[in-house]
Amino acid sequence: MADSQSRQGRWISRRSFLAGAALGGAGVWAVGVMPRWIFSKDPHRPPQLYEYFVDNYWFESVGMNDVRDNPPLKGQQRVDIAIVGGGFAGMSTAYNLARLLPGKRIVVLEGARCGYGASGRNGGFADVGEPGFAYVYETHGPEAARAYYDATLLGLEQIRTFVDDYGVDCELELTGSTMLAAGESHVEYLIEHQQRLEQIGVRAELMDRAEMRRKLHSDRFFGGLHDPNHAIVNPAKLALGMKGVIESLGVEVSERSKVLRMMPGSTVRLVTEFAEVLADKVVIALNGYAPQFGLFKNRILPVNIYAAATEPLNEAQMQSIGWAGREGLWDTRSDFMYLRLSADNRIVFGEGGMIPYDGSPSTGNYQPLIEKMQSSLLETFPQLEGVRFTHNWGGTVAATKDGMPSVGTLADSGNIFHAVGFNGEGVVMAQLAGRIAAERVAGRETPLSRLAMVDKQMPYIGPEPVRNLGAAIYRKLDLWE
Ligand SMILES: Cc1cc2nc3c(=O)[nH]c(=O)nc-3n(C[C@H](O)[C@H](O)[C@H](O)COP(=O)(O)OP(=O)(O)OC[C@H]3O[C@@H](n4cnc5c(N)ncnc54)[C@H](O)[C@@H]3O)c2cc1C
Repeated sequence: MADSQSRQGRWISRRSFLAGAALGGAGVWAVGVMPRWIFSKDPHRPPQLYEYFVDNYWFESVGMNDVRDNPPLKGQQRVDIAIVGGGFAGMSTAYNLARLLPGKRIVVLEGARCGYGASGRNGGFADVGEPGFAYVYETHGPEAARAYYDATLLGLEQIRTFVDDYGVDCELELTGSTMLAAGESHVEYLIEHQQRLEQIGVRAELMDRAEMRRKLHSDRFFGGLHDPNHAIVNPAKLALGMKGVIESLGVEVSERSKVLRMMPGSTVRLVTEFAEVLADKVVIALNGYAPQFGLFKNRILPVNIYAAATEPLNEAQMQSIGWAGREGLWDTRSDFMYLRLSADNRIVFGEGGMIPYDGSPSTGNYQPLIEKMQSSLLETFPQLEGVRFTHNWGGTVAATKDGMPSVGTLADSGNIFHAVGFNGEGVVMAQLAGRIAAERVAGRETPLSRLAMVDKQMPYIGPEPVRNLGAAIYRKLDLWE
């Protein structure tokens, strides 16, 4: 959940703030005013990809510290397909390729361990239609939006396949999710969004303030819009489960295998610390890490976003907040809050994000933001005063100017593919993007190849450091259109 006005409407905001960034940024630079709060840099940013410790509730719930990494790939290796990145996108690509091209040597090269990136750290909102539904609707029309929404349902269906056919226990709950109006004027946006959904045949339930208050015992919101098609999962369990599934299908998963260099050619050469891999085809599934790898530097803005968890709520606390439907919730502010219940009744939540002005990835534990998130949760549920906060973590996601993901072929190569740009909404979308990337690698044309996110040029995001300055100002001012 990267940022912005609401997840559906973010493209409008992002476009305007990036456009305004040049002017605003130049002015600010000209007078030499760079307040510390704009550039508040994450003091815990690790120098490279890895941290020593990630205080992530999901990692803990899956016993990540006790899970053994696969050994790194070593020596000279010849493979049919190498997938760089072992998050949802990379593993979905591997899953679909293993089914489309059985017998091929498919290797996942993961720099840390599968699910170590955003895939194992997110809020676990398995939302359909996102990111980019409103953008597709406005720019391509209702028919394209319907196709887009339906395609993401396939992403959710893939998760259900892991659960039903492969026995992956990822605490999937088909709860739907509710967008909450954080101001009176924001209700209008809910109505607009409901109408868009209606136009494509999706019935979302609009709730006024009183109704919302009955469902969720908080005075903070002015209404809600419930989309029944969404779900929630434990993302680290899903990531670990997916790793098991792809290995069972014959995919080789090499962990601690950070790719250091890529040399394109009719055979692509990938260099890791211990191996040189020659691959006929390569899929880049690095999302927010892609710019650090040297790809999409002017197309993807790595954004760090954060999450936290409370202790498990007791019966009385659960009663006091309502929320019987357990659906994922998020509000309509640009630095929106999102919250959901875990299987053991913790509230896992987050708010806001931070843009590293040097464009390098960061993983979180940024104290000022943690404090802001905690007080925001208590503002939502003052009745939880005294609840213990047990975990804080963060991760890096990829923001694009139009808020859309991108699946396609890199430049002239013809044999290097990518699935990136999930704008903080990749739980379902990365499943779908991996499927489309696999179809492209296998040379299959399907209706999915015609979706708005396929083979499109990601828009230019502007030069450093102006774009980050503009983005930071935008966030601080919480602009609302
Ligand atoms: C705090 C937070 C909350 C979020 N909440 C939600 C949510 O509720 N719902 C939702 O839909 N989305 C959410 N997201 C976004 C979602 O997690 C991502 O969009 C999605 O996981 C992206 O998957 P991915 O596979 O593309 O990237 P990643 O999961 O980031 O995977 C990339 C992988 O590449 C590896 N890597 C990096 N560099 C190299 C290299 N050089 N060589 C080899 N490997 C490398 C990394 O270790 C990583 O495992 C959230 C993200 C965060 C951080």
